[in-house]
Amino acid sequence: MISFQNVDKQFADHHALDNVSVEFPEHQTTVLVGPSGAGKSTLLRSINLLERPQAGLLKINDQTIDFAKPIARNELLKARQQTAMVFQSWNLFPHLTILQNITEGPIVVHKQPKKEAEANARRLLEQVGLADTADRYPDQLSGGQQQRISICRALALDPSYILLDEPTSALDPELEAQVLRVLQDLAKQDQSMIVVTHNMEFARRVADKIVFVEDGRIEFDGSTDDFFTHPTDRIQAFLDAME
Ligand code: ATP
Ligand code: MG
Repeated sequence: MISFQNVDKQFADHHALDNVSVEFPEHQTTVLVGPSGAGKSTLLRSINLLERPQAGLLKINDQTIDFAKPIARNELLKARQQTAMVFQSWNLFPHLTILQNITEGPIVVHKQPKKEAEANARRLLEQVGLADTADRYPDQLSGGQQQRISICRALALDPSYILLDEPTSALDPELEAQVLRVLQDLAKQDQSMIVVTHNMEFARRVADKIVFVEDGRIEFDGSTDDFFTHPTDRIQAFLDAME
């Protein structure tokens, strides 16, 4: 389980996370939604400590990090190994093959033997329908294919959770569908995921839980069914604006 307790993140003159408490259950897909500037990315980035809130607790499995205190390097590394982030624009290494892009992390970070890392990478490529791209370079793939490779790269690190920040917002609808299918498969396999998205259809189909963020505060935290069938006036207005 990953959770936040009373987390506060202040940028110079902006309160990006305002006393946020929220749980992200294991083996579930939690979808973060909310208007632009709400604090979704800040929340996600705080989970893997790309962003440092000033106060509050982050719990990851058996580990507790107090944002108000300095974080020891070994604690930081331990926390970061529990999650892997997939960004909006796939950022693969252009000079490495697809296989090398996926095996780089496991070999360098986890000291996994090359053969083992490659076998695992090929299995992941198979899983996302891209087994035949292993020896190609990123610029020979479409955006949707590159994003599926980014997901393989995250999975290859064998994190407890994968974190995805608008993974399809840079893609055409057809390519978006390919990526969403991969995420839906992962959800079916009970991969723990936290996904920021503006795609309400995906949220409705795949999320176990929805968290609605606005002005740095959690305005809704509950089941997908509740979110869509009993929306508050504010959520209804948000949903109407998304259509
Ligand atoms: P979007 O849907 O547009 O991606 P978001 O919900 O992800 O929005 P955040 O990126 O988390 O929003 O930003 C939350 C608020 O914090 C915004 O008002 C933003 O301008 C501010 N903010 C984010 N990063 C910084 C930063 N590095 N310095 C100053 N302000 C920042
Ligand atoms: Mg964002």
